[in-house]
Amino acid sequence: MKTIIEPFRIKMVEPLKLTTPAERDAILRKAHFNPFQIPAEDVLIDLLTDSGTSAMSSEQWAGIMRGDESYAGARSWFRFEKSLRDITGMPHILPTHQGRASERILFELVGGPGKYVPNNNHFDTTRANIEHSGAIAVDLVIDEGGMPRVHHPFKGNLDPHKLRGLIAEVGAKQIPLCMITVTNNSGGGQPVSLANIREIRRICDQHHIPLFLDACRFAENAWFIKQREPGRQDQSIREIVREMFSMVDGATISAKKDGLVNIGGVLLMRDDVLAERANNLLILTEGFVTYGGLAGRDLEAMAQGFQEVLEEDYLNYRIRSVAYLGEGLLKAGVQIIEPPGGHAIYIDASAFCPHLPPDQFPGQALLGAFYRHGGIRAVEIGSVMFGRTDPATGQTVHPSMQLVRLAIPRRVYTQSHIDYVIETVAEVFQQREKIRGLRITDAPQVLRHFTAKFEEV
Ligand SMILES: *Cc1c(COP(=O)(O)O)cnc(C)c1O
Repeated sequence: MKTIIEPFRIKMVEPLKLTTPAERDAILRKAHFNPFQIPAEDVLIDLLTDSGTSAMSSEQWAGIMRGDESYAGARSWFRFEKSLRDITGMPHILPTHQGRASERILFELVGGPGKYVPNNNHFDTTRANIEHSGAIAVDLVIDEGGMPRVHHPFKGNLDPHKLRGLIAEVGAKQIPLCMITVTNNSGGGQPVSLANIREIRRICDQHHIPLFLDACRFAENAWFIKQREPGRQDQSIREIVREMFSMVDGATISAKKDGLVNIGGVLLMRDDVLAERANNLLILTEGFVTYGGLAGRDLEAMAQGFQEVLEEDYLNYRIRSVAYLGEGLLKAGVQIIEPPGGHAIYIDASAFCPHLPPDQFPGQALLGAFYRHGGIRAVEIGSVMFGRTDPATGQTVHPSMQLVRLAIPRRVYTQSHIDYVIETVAEVFQQREKIRGLRITDAPQVLRHFTAKFEEV
């Protein structure tokens, strides 16, 4: 079989700055071993996130020029609305400035103290918005979703037994809606099957609970369904996407992922009464209903991006290039979460650095090693991000896994960039016993991964 190539050619380039190992060592020290503090200009390959980092197409840039900046009823709004309705079939389409704005509006309307909102795994901003409303966010992913080495075609599935258990325990009246995140970002970018969405829909129907998608990566999820779900191979991605949305009452979307844009979001719903209340909040905090906190040109770029992301040659290349990175690392002996998800590869930092205990932050130490060795930036998902102090005992409580996430921006890097990443990680792995642990010298009370300072042990 031939190489699956990037299905685009390059029309405009952004130079990358090459630095020496000595320069990077100085930059890393100045950033106190925290990659969030490194200026992006000093990063060679930036795998910090796949959010808002996509390269736009020539048609999207043409849309930017065509943007209609009229306050109400702009041409760009109608194009955006038509694009989203065509893809999802949803009657009410609200533009927002990004995913968390959609979440904030939705949970201000349906959340509140005493309520429970289940999901396979809540993304951080979804959980934060639910908790901000006073409600409780509950993760109900299938057990395989938490086992890094277990293969399952749909590790993002929501466990129907756990959902029935929650309903029996707290009562359906306390559950204003159930969510399913596709793909399951916090669970490693793992997909959810159509059969699972249908089964969860049936349970929700029995108890009159609305079902919403967190649909940030709906197209990547549809690609996995086409590849892995029995009987779906001959369906088009559009048909699969339509079926996904046909089974739900609404969705929150960050267009910074599968919208292939740098800013934007969407809130979708069927219920007329809920939509009217959402529109009122939208006007209060985001903007009028035909622009929702965005410029007309942003709506144009989204209208086009949401169509391009459904192209099967694009999705084949996208999912293949992430898997290619995962396979390269496994071949080099590096343990990752298997199988590779849709948008990122997660390295098991404890297996990479067995000499570093969790309180020496193996994931954070690895970030420093990747940057120093090859100018690569990634993010730690381990004790820096999720470690906490137990107020009762004063002891540090560590999360179950120490991970480093390599997130792949869409249409930005070529195969030789990815080969370079594999080579860099493999070389660091060869000398892994030299990686030194870290200790925190200064950290804020909340969200410490953004600004914490470290030194080598
Ligand atoms: C990124 C993301 C969000 C939040 O979107 P923002 O545009 O960053 O506000 C919500 N859910 C999931 C699954 C995401 O990946």
